[in-house]
Order: sequence, then C-alpha cells, then structure tokens
Amino acid sequence: MQITKTALTQKTSVNWPTLAFLVLFHLASVAALFFWSWPAVISAAILFGVGSMGIGMGWHRLLTHRGYKVPKVVEYFLIFCGSLALEGGPIQWATTHRIHHAHTDEEGDPHTPRDGRWWSHIGWVLVPPPQVLDQSQLQRYAPDLLNQRFYRWLNRFYYAPLIMLAVGLLAFGGWRVMLWGVFLRVTLGLHSTWLVNSATHIWGKRRFATRDDSRNNWWVALLTFGEGWHNNHHAYPRSARHGLAWYEIDVNWWGIRVMQFLRLAKAVKLIGVTNRAEA
Ligand SMILES: [Zn+2]
Ligand SMILES: [Zn+2]
Repeated sequence: MQITKTALTQKTSVNWPTLAFLVLFHLASVAALFFWSWPAVISAAILFGVGSMGIGMGWHRLLTHRGYKVPKVVEYFLIFCGSLALEGGPIQWATTHRIHHAHTDEEGDPHTPRDGRWWSHIGWVLVPPPQVLDQSQLQRYAPDLLNQRFYRWLNRFYYAPLIMLAVGLLAFGGWRVMLWGVFLRVTLGLHSTWLVNSATHIWGKRRFATRDDSRNNWWVALLTFGEGWHNNHHAYPRSARHGLAWYEIDVNWWGIRVMQFLRLAKAVKLIGVTNRAEA
C-alpha cells in the first residue's frame, strides 16, 4: 500500500504534550474502573451523551458542513457542549475535517487508513499539527469561523470548559464522579470519534459508490449517535441526516428534528430524491 506524503513526513516526529495527556487520560480511565459508584457512572453516561451530541450535531453537522441553521445562542451552546469532548479547537477541528472531505483517502487526507489503521485512529493525533493547519489553511478552509470572536477564543482555550467542568464535578460530586465524568468519559468519547476516521473507512457496507473508502458501520453509529453512517455522509456531506433508513439509527438527526419542531433549526439540508434506502 502506497503511503501518502503527508503521513510520511509527519510520522517521524511526536507531539509529546498530546502523547503525555493521552497516556494520563488512559491510565486514569483504567483506575476509574476500580473506583466506581452509581453517581459516577450516571454522570459519565450523561456527559458522554452531551459531548458526543455536541460534536455530532454541533461541530460536525452544523459548524463544519452547515447542514442546518440555528440562532447564534443555540449554535454557541451546541459548540460549547462539544468542547467538553476535548477534541481541540473548533476552527482547527472543522478545518481538519473539511480537508478530510476535500481529499478523502488520497494525498492530503489527514487521517486515511490507507496510511495505516492505527495511523487513522490515533497516530495522526500524536504528531505535531501538520503544515496544512497553518494560518493560511485556516483562512482558506474556515474563514466563516475565523471571523467570529467566540470561535477564535475557544480555538485557543479549548480546554477551558472541561477544566471548569472538572472543578465543578470535584466540588459537587467528589473525586470518583470527576474521574468518571472527565477522564473515563473523555477517553471513551475520543475513541468513539476516532472510530469514524478509522473503522468507517475500513469496515461496513457501501450504499453509495463514492470515490473514497467510506462505509456505513452500525456499531460506530451506535457509539457516536449516528456519525457511523459515514458512506451516506461522504456521498452527501451537507445533509443534516446521516441515517437514511429506519434501521440506521441516527440520534443526532433526532436531536436536529426536535430543534426543527421547536422552530430553532431552519434551512435543514437533506438528500432529497435519493433519500431512500437502496441497500
Ligand atoms: Zn470520512
Ligand atoms: Zn463530515
């Protein structure tokens, strides 16, 4: 398999702070298993949902693809929820993902499994940010976000909301709740999101003959509240709905539907005529 130049030049160096934090989060997650309590488990489950839907509904479908519109205060709330998943800054996240769509599974894709399965899952996170994320690339791929002070601030201090949450959980729930609600929950959330980059470009069914390797993967969809219907998504990136058949469970889409019902979500993009199951 021919490795892309992007991965080749990056694979030689390590982003030590990121590596240190990920090792810490994984060790703390293992420790959490020995110190559980019902409040800790329930807090972690709720926060897992909040963070994952913030990423799926907010960072991915709203911010990156503009699949629907909501009032600014709702948009910022969704993005704030997503920031609790500790996936970096929203401008950097959206830029990386827009580049992934522009060069899916070819030269320039930041995380294609064609460069190795582990590379697409976690390896690409452990190297210094690539050249493609310098200021000119942010300007090119995310000018709509760079011009908003909220996103510039959150892009710089992306860890601030999680630190505030950790302090709050420690104060009101105790250290077990903090261990589960922050460390274990964030670690599971990161792997769930990373599975969209790795597993859904490797395993699953292809409804649409896209030019990339994207697949519809039911278990990644369950873990990510609907982001696993990734072949549907690559075929129609702007559609706010990823699960197209009744059996393609897409909780993030249900969330958008609820907001539409409440007249909060408008201009919801859909696939249209091809919005039928053909699998
Ligand atoms: Zn993809
Ligand atoms: Zn996408």
